[in-house]
Amino acid sequence: MKIRLPLLRDSHTHISFYAALGAAADLSACRTEAGALARLKKEPGPLVLARGWNSAYYDLRGGGFDRLGPAVVCNVSQHSFRFNAAARAALKSEFPDIVANIDDPAWVENNLNRVFGLFTSAGGARDIPAYMERLAALGVWAADDMLVPDDRAALLLGRRYAGRAALWTEPDIYEKLGPAARAAIGGLKFFADGALGSRSAALRRPYRGGGRGLLLHSDEELGKLFKLAARLTGRAAVHAIGDAALEQVLRALERLAIPGRDLRVRVEHAQLSTPEQARRARRLGLALCMQPNFSGDSACYADRLPPALLRRNNPFRMLIDKAGFVPGESLLFGSDGMPHGAAPALQAALFPPWPGQRLTPDEFRAGYCLPDLAAGWLDARVDGAKRKVFVKVGGPAAAGGRK
Ligand SMILES: [Zn+2]
Repeated sequence: MKIRLPLLRDSHTHISFYAALGAAADLSACRTEAGALARLKKEPGPLVLARGWNSAYYDLRGGGFDRLGPAVVCNVSQHSFRFNAAARAALKSEFPDIVANIDDPAWVENNLNRVFGLFTSAGGARDIPAYMERLAALGVWAADDMLVPDDRAALLLGRRYAGRAALWTEPDIYEKLGPAARAAIGGLKFFADGALGSRSAALRRPYRGGGRGLLLHSDEELGKLFKLAARLTGRAAVHAIGDAALEQVLRALERLAIPGRDLRVRVEHAQLSTPEQARRARRLGLALCMQPNFSGDSACYADRLPPALLRRNNPFRMLIDKAGFVPGESLLFGSDGMPHGAAPALQAALFPPWPGQRLTPDEFRAGYCLPDLAAGWLDARVDGAKRKVFVKVGGPAAAGGRK
């Protein structure tokens, strides 16, 4: 089967952060610690930044890692980090609290934007245009930056990429922005829990091997964040991966009863939603922003999730067919950059591990694509027998959007 689709609007990624991270070493192909160390060793100093470390395959601690020059490694989930001994020594004076607390998962979850700042301050907004070109060449024309770090990034994205970039940031960053940058920000983003990659997504039943993850706020604090978003931007995006985090979000919003005209809420990820939670989310008028590429968590996190949760992950059929979510309206799709691009998005949507995770091409188009072909298009060849999708980007975007 061949289909032509418009380019993607990736409703959840991190433009500024990934732009800065673009220069970082990519460990996502590494499956062993030795492989990752060999990759890191090739990088020029003085400080090596790396991304794509997957804790399902290996960890980076002590020994060989500490014998390298200064190296800072970001987990594929972006919710945990490894600093080696030389990096700690090099960064201690400029970022003392990050160095002191980087191994404390609760501190990291509550201070993610400061750790990201370590990456973004290295490159700054300078790397954003090249990153937008790279996204376009991968078939992504428009995107939401879920964590705009500063004025420079907000102004560049707001002006040069008006119509292509939707901007979100966290409350404490928003407070520091000037008026022009604030005007470019569409909504406030905050976290209810952590991530599966760092075993910090908040679950109602324990992980295999123990622990239930982390709820980052009390009910009262979460309520205050929603009220703040209603007052400042009228839009909130709340990250809730685990079913316990989604439960807390629903509880907070049911109690607050903020009128729909004052606050529009998007729940980011909502991967482990139960049918009952989905119905309540619908009743509250929430939109869900979900990642078809996270359907693969059902295969790759079998080491940490009980079988019932592996099966419940990314339940698109339940959400659309039973709870009544509508792609493009109350159900939006994005990648979170894991990985970027139209090919992995379409592959994950059409051929996920579980049938309940499957999206139709029409649902994909409604929830993930631009309305028309003006900026370019995706020519997809779908091989049902091999369960493979091949995507070619056409039109202006194929050259990165340069005219
Ligand atoms: Zn994200």
